[in-house]
Amino acid sequence: MGLGDDARLESRPATRAELELVHPGRDLDRLHQICDDGGGMVDPDTVVSCGSWDVALLAAGAGLAAVERLDRGDADAAFLAIRPPGHHAVPAASMGFCLVNNVAVTAAVLRARGERVVIVDWDAHHGNGTQDIFYDDPDVLYVSLHEWPLYPGTGSMDEVGVGAGVGATLNVPLPAGTTGDVYLAALDEVVAPVVARFAPTWVLVSAGFDAHRADPITGLGLSAGDFADLTARVVALAPRPGRVIAFLEGGYDLDALRDSVTATASTLLGQPCRPEPATSGGPGTPIVGALHDRWITERGV
Ligand SMILES: [Zn+2]
Repeated sequence: MGLGDDARLESRPATRAELELVHPGRDLDRLHQICDDGGGMVDPDTVVSCGSWDVALLAAGAGLAAVERLDRGDADAAFLAIRPPGHHAVPAASMGFCLVNNVAVTAAVLRARGERVVIVDWDAHHGNGTQDIFYDDPDVLYVSLHEWPLYPGTGSMDEVGVGAGVGATLNVPLPAGTTGDVYLAALDEVVAPVVARFAPTWVLVSAGFDAHRADPITGLGLSAGDFADLTARVVALAPRPGRVIAFLEGGYDLDALRDSVTATASTLLGQPCRPEPATSGGPGTPIVGALHDRWITERGV
């Protein structure tokens, strides 16, 4: 979905070559075989059925179909209403409800053609898989705002990349109860200048909605209205229209998910809808200050 009339996007399956930019072939074969055998548990949290392989290929291919449409100038942005989510999937394993790392496959395909990609992950959980995949890569900037401490246990401020990738991973670990004003401060005072310095050519969003205050498995304090503000800030990071793709990740209260997706999708359409007012007054401001000192004032990591 994107700007313009009838801008409905159909997915296509990701190809083997596209998937193998992120996941080793033997691990893809193993997942495919488990599905063909009728399904089962691939991780303590993650179950697959006989249909999961085909669905995983379509979820991973949605971002690639969106790139093809945006390359043609068909829309200013795309929102991908896909499941299963992807950001916990590491190169060699599915985990945390995620089979294939959808956003990473699209980032890897873009990177392979010379693009500079920023991934902004506002799911309540840290996207450990996405971080792992690009941890040593200076051309993919991974930015995560997430609850801390929380599953999967990664995402501290000290995780900033390795080797040539140092400075291309920015983690914003926030306490339970954090409200929208603190998210906006983090985006305005830390994330935006770091992204500007990086100079991306594409902006991908791991758009989970489990940071909503009603979500049953997390403790953050956002409302649907906050997601309209977050979306506007992230769109502003793009170099020009047509370079933003939002990938659905988590979100486990269905009413909150509906309202939050509405806020994000309508903002991408340029007609923001706020099913709830924005929130403020929660904790987390000292984290933003510490990150500002580290990333902006000291200009180092
Ligand atoms: Zn999540």
